[in-house]
Amino acid sequence: MSLSVTCYRCGEGDENAARVRCSCGEPRWIEPDASSFAWSDCRDYEGMWRYEPLLPIDRPAGVARAAGGTPLVRSPGLDDTAGCRVYVKDEGEHPTGAYKDRGSAVAVPHAIAAGNDAIGTVSYGNMAMSTAAHAASLDRECVVLVPDEIPAGRLELIAQYEPTIVRVDGDYGALYGDALALSDALPIGMLVSDSPTRISGYKTALFEICEAFAPDAPDAIVVPTSSGGFASGMWRGIRDLEAAGLLDDAPRLYLVQTAAADPITRAFDAGETDPTALSPDETGETIAHSIGNPDPPSGGRALAAARDTGGAVLSVTDDELRAAKRRFAVDAGFCVEPASAASLAGATRLSDRGDIDADESVVLVPTGTGFKELGTGDASVATERVRRADLSERLGSLLGDRLGAR
Ligand SMILES: *Cc1c(COP(=O)(O)O)cnc(C)c1O
Ligand SMILES: [Zn+2]
Repeated sequence: MSLSVTCYRCGEGDENAARVRCSCGEPRWIEPDASSFAWSDCRDYEGMWRYEPLLPIDRPAGVARAAGGTPLVRSPGLDDTAGCRVYVKDEGEHPTGAYKDRGSAVAVPHAIAAGNDAIGTVSYGNMAMSTAAHAASLDRECVVLVPDEIPAGRLELIAQYEPTIVRVDGDYGALYGDALALSDALPIGMLVSDSPTRISGYKTALFEICEAFAPDAPDAIVVPTSSGGFASGMWRGIRDLEAAGLLDDAPRLYLVQTAAADPITRAFDAGETDPTALSPDETGETIAHSIGNPDPPSGGRALAAARDTGGAVLSVTDDELRAAKRRFAVDAGFCVEPASAASLAGATRLSDRGDIDADESVVLVPTGTGFKELGTGDASVATERVRRADLSERLGSLLGDRLGAR
């Protein structure tokens, strides 16, 4: 298939989807001809493959078919906390528990079709799991480069799919650049956070949200952001729908970072076009490890996405993340990853400062499930120990207290 792979900034393009960066230095993305697309062109497939006409490959086999189609749930229990009409797009409901599967579902089969014997990635979190699962499902070798000091729990999650896991001794942050060079030297299709085919997969989240609201659109979408890949996908999705004439009033994209590592927020506040990489002494510890990239490869594009759509980039603290994670569970029944709680924490800040109004429809995107994060929650909650013989009486008074407190 001939593809148009372009640079959002300088417009330069060609047909090579394996080339990640433009000669101007910015990441590239795949630009389909969406001009004649209508919702009625959607395929009768489950999940994200509905949008096959706007994707660079036909629906592949395997676990990729399970990507997308996540629930979009009106969650009035969160309206007070968020200060608006809340919808939750629960991206944790993916085969490997995070939106990364949308990208892997396109990128892994595409890299295999391009003749790579093996697939590879640089990650020790959700992207590693997702890439390894998709390679396993297509019976391909997968190489995962992880930092030497990777926590055992993370290793166990990735190892389930039995990829080749290589612990790399040295500056892990610098591996993004090395990974692109490895693809040239070895028969490995290296799929980094902003590979053009990944971004194509990510945009289907935006399509699902907008199709659900069509012919209207939500007022805003709030997304946790680290490398800027998912934000880029959302923006690409908006552009596709605008090209198709299906989006008159695009949602504002609000991108939320952790205050412990927030180069994109800093650049947004300073009015700069590109983020500046943070040095180790400018970053801190955070429970939101999925959004801790101090040198985001798609940072410039994420900034452009927020500005172009009339949104913003902002940061939240770990205390705000803990509180928001709790509200997701207690007020709406969702178990989200700490990083994903940034969507709600961000919305709270945005409504407090007047960027979001109470009558606006806002889609929060918890990007990953909290089920992988055992041991990080609060296990010290008060529980009652009651003798079986006393159960009815004691339960009656306990319930009375709880119901009275509501
Ligand atoms: C990867 C990830 C993010 C950040 O996405 P980027 O594309 O790097 O901006 C946010 N939340 C979760 C759960 C993730 O796995
Ligand atoms: Zn360019």
